[in-house]
Amino acid sequence: MSEFQLLKNVEPKSAAVRDAIMADPGFGNHFTDHMAHIRYTTEQGWHGHEVKPYGPLLLDPAAAVLHYAQEIFEGLKAYRHADGSVWTFRPERNAERFNLSAERLALPQLPVEDFVESLRATVEQDAAWVPTPKDASDEVSLYLRPFMIASESFLGVRPSQTVDYYVIASPAGAYFEGGAKGVDIWLSDKLKRASMGGTGFAKCGGNYAASMTAQAEAAAHGCKQVMFTDAAESRYLEELGGMNLMLVTQDGELITPELGDSILNGVTRRSLLELAPSLGLTPIERKIEVSEWVKGVESGYITEAFACGTAAVITPIGRLLGNEVEVDMGDTGEYTTKLRTALLDIQYGRAEDTNNWLV
Ligand code: PMP
Repeated sequence: MSEFQLLKNVEPKSAAVRDAIMADPGFGNHFTDHMAHIRYTTEQGWHGHEVKPYGPLLLDPAAAVLHYAQEIFEGLKAYRHADGSVWTFRPERNAERFNLSAERLALPQLPVEDFVESLRATVEQDAAWVPTPKDASDEVSLYLRPFMIASESFLGVRPSQTVDYYVIASPAGAYFEGGAKGVDIWLSDKLKRASMGGTGFAKCGGNYAASMTAQAEAAAHGCKQVMFTDAAESRYLEELGGMNLMLVTQDGELITPELGDSILNGVTRRSLLELAPSLGLTPIERKIEVSEWVKGVESGYITEAFACGTAAVITPIGRLLGNEVEVDMGDTGEYTTKLRTALLDIQYGRAEDTNNWLV
């Protein structure tokens, strides 16, 4: 693993500006003073590890990423604990997923240690940007966005021979306004995000570009997020545009669609499945039909539904709306709240980290 050289930002934002931003950060609006960077060439491999001033990239207009979307990214958070210390949650999981994404997008593998060290170097330099929660309901954090882009200037379609990796950081409040209140989601039956053999399991920009029309359709129906179904039959539930789906049954099962080519292996999803037994829930990964959800709510078999992911933690689903579907989940369920609290308590250091998830 290489050391990150520091090139200090000589014009950082003033403490007053920073404080004003931190008082109401929103999500993804503001960025810290530094960013990490590592360069890759096929001849030299990864080299030039540095933390440098945050700022625009100098990119050739012919850079492959701008034309062929050869790009991947990650998203995770740094949390400040009551004693002032700062922690990330299972960053090795993000590093592993990053490498799966890299493999699918024909980008180079980044050693897990380099990934984790790049986060550490960024957070260490911009520690003043990690917000301090006022109380247990204050879900503030520093959102970290590692990403890798094909930077070779060449218009032929083949894997780029130069690649750049960066980490940028953004102070964050709650992802959805209104915190943990149930959100309405739109069942997309025509527009798809991913397919068998495609890139759904990878965290690449193209998946998100492909989800935006559906997101606009959702918004037009008053919904905050899109529920995507399988590309072949529109029969099975897959995931939301940026979160995984979980349902709770009256038998105490926590069920979620099984992973495959078209579903992102969420760190939150995995962690909740692992926490479930301690809350009296049986975790189950399997195919779930749209009709099972609809009929299950009618019969009382499905009792709770929520979406989960780093940015919004656990978001209870209020209603599922679609062209031929309307399901009302009622008030936020007991297990949704319990799982949410259990996870946040670990992340913010209010509960013992028995699984050694914090780094
Ligand atoms: N699915 C998609 C499509 C996502 O973008 C995300 C956010 N990374 C998730 C699920 C949740 O993953 P995680 O829990 O690792 O944030």
